[in-house]
Amino acid sequence: MKNEVVGQFQDKVSELLIRHRSILDSLTKFQESSARVNRSIAKTVTNCGCLSVSASKQTCPPEVNLKDCQQYMNSHLNGELCEHCLEAIEEELGNHLFYLTALCNLLNLELTDVFDKEFERINTLGFFNLS
Ligand SMILES: [Zn+2]
Repeated sequence: MKNEVVGQFQDKVSELLIRHRSILDSLTKFQESSARVNRSIAKTVTNCGCLSVSASKQTCPPEVNLKDCQQYMNSHLNGELCEHCLEAIEEELGNHLFYLTALCNLLNLELTDVFDKEFERINTLGFFNLS
């Protein structure tokens, strides 16, 4: 059912994809949208202040197995996203998804296949190779 939504999204992007038919335009817009996602997250700290970052080296006790190591890992984030920042990040992520989908369209890739294959890959790999 979720894949159906992804398929409909890809069809809609294809309809709207007039100005960025060139792979070069879509590639550079994709990269730009990625930077805008990062910027919207950074602004939660530097402009709004709803989140703060406090980072240090991640360490996991040597006797702990990889699966249990999760509980020793820290996001380095403090606070909660405010409504404004949440909306801004969602908007930038949505824009990023648009250009990701545009790239799929131009390369004749099905976004649902990309999701399915990645889902299969992470299921198979488990805790390993996901860094
Ligand atoms: Zn905020």
